[in-house]
Amino acid sequence: MSTISNVKYEAVIGLEVHAQLLTKSKAFAAVSSEYGGAPNRQVTPLCLGHPGTLPVLNENLVRYTIKMGLATGCKISEKSIFARKNYFYPDLPKGYQISQYDTPICYEGSIEIELEDYVKEIGITRIHMEEDAGKSIHDQDPYHTLVDLNRAGTPLIEIVSEPDLRTPREAYEYLKKIRQIVQYLDVCDGNMEEGSLRCDANVSIRPRGQKELGTRTELKNMNSFRNVERAITFEIERQIELVENGGKVIQQTLLWDPNKLETRQMRSKEEAHDYRYFPEPDLPPIIVNESLLEDIQSELPELPDKRLLRFVEQSGLSRDEAAILTDNRYLADYFEEAIGFLNEPKAISNVILTEVLRVLNEKSIHINEFTITPKQLSGLIQLKLEDKINSSAMQTIFNELLESDKEPIELAAVMNLIQVSDSGFLEPIIDEVMESNPDEVKRYREGKKALISFFIGQVMKQSKGKANPKLVREMVAVKLDGTE
Ligand code: ADP
Ligand code: MG
Repeated sequence: MSTISNVKYEAVIGLEVHAQLLTKSKAFAAVSSEYGGAPNRQVTPLCLGHPGTLPVLNENLVRYTIKMGLATGCKISEKSIFARKNYFYPDLPKGYQISQYDTPICYEGSIEIELEDYVKEIGITRIHMEEDAGKSIHDQDPYHTLVDLNRAGTPLIEIVSEPDLRTPREAYEYLKKIRQIVQYLDVCDGNMEEGSLRCDANVSIRPRGQKELGTRTELKNMNSFRNVERAITFEIERQIELVENGGKVIQQTLLWDPNKLETRQMRSKEEAHDYRYFPEPDLPPIIVNESLLEDIQSELPELPDKRLLRFVEQSGLSRDEAAILTDNRYLADYFEEAIGFLNEPKAISNVILTEVLRVLNEKSIHINEFTITPKQLSGLIQLKLEDKINSSAMQTIFNELLESDKEPIELAAVMNLIQVSDSGFLEPIIDEVMESNPDEVKRYREGKKALISFFIGQVMKQSKGKANPKLVREMVAVKLDGTE
């Protein structure tokens, strides 16, 4: 991309990421916040904005947010408050969103991102708690907009980065890292397509060397990782072209159109004062004491960067292998479960990175839906390592395991695939192959040694793939070279 590595300008990017929390109930009401229910069935009078209803804080909203804060090196406020963010929208019956304004519960953290040839620390300005609005549906009725309030009041965290990102790729890696962390912490499923992870990108450009930031635009509606990278790329190029042609960037909110691959104006950018933020009078301040912090700290799982290093050090995997395995927490769990049954990390990682990932890709499924259990997989690999089956049998059994809950050894026996390393069994087969191919035997003995592969192939075929290829090769060579 020519303009991205533009010598004259550099881009500045800051991301605001919203993550929908996996709490069972809503932020301030005792009703399920689960995604995908029938419209307007998960609502209480509070979600409908009825007068006289009062919010009650879901403790897990606080705990999950602090978890994320600790995992990203944030400071945690001892005392913070909720604020009302006021605006009118049909899917916001209360007329305001409960959020946090000048006292976010977590602040001044950072995460590390890794690019091809450098590592970079990206500042996290703040992580605050808020509730989601409902959903307006414009494409189901030709005349009306429909409103589903199931999502109204669903707990969210907003993670705001410092304007530390410089390229679309950095933004992409940052977002991936955020997703990886929320998944590891089990606070959000990280699904961008379903909207449980959403990202707004703030983009500006400035002449290289300039300190002050340029005027930014804010991009919305990018519902995949690829689209985030694409939209930012598009926007940087648009701004450079605009400025080069004597124009000026105006601060505005832009919508990414994933079909046309371009941004278009949505509205001029709102300012904080437009929202008339004021302290939420119906909720007490959030007080975080030492013992709550210690409690949450002790629940933190091992985070991806650390796990990657451990896989390299303990299991002897390469960094690349460990990076792919730990990219997804559940894939890493699968790997660890498998090596619990058979301590052969390298062999197990090989099969996961090739065969298992291939199947997940082909079927478009998640590792949690994969039908071969870690125990079955390690059993299969053990058969191969012990030379009880050969590679082609391994492949056959692997495919069979996708639809079977039998143990690999049982399948190998039933399918008659246990490798034969018994020379008594092989000898008559080799004799027969030689007898029925006298010309080849002759040519081999006249010096065409490459024909040995032909004989091995024939013997393997006659043994129905069960023969140990190493043994076959040795025996065939002896027989062919032997004088008669
Ligand atoms: P708002 O809530 O109005 O969008 P914030 O001050 O919370 O504003 O900033 C939102 C994001 O915009 C942050 O991630 C910040 O890093 C980023 N940002 C601020 N100024 C710029 C700029 N000039 N260029 C690019 N990103 C910026
Ligand atoms: Mg914003």
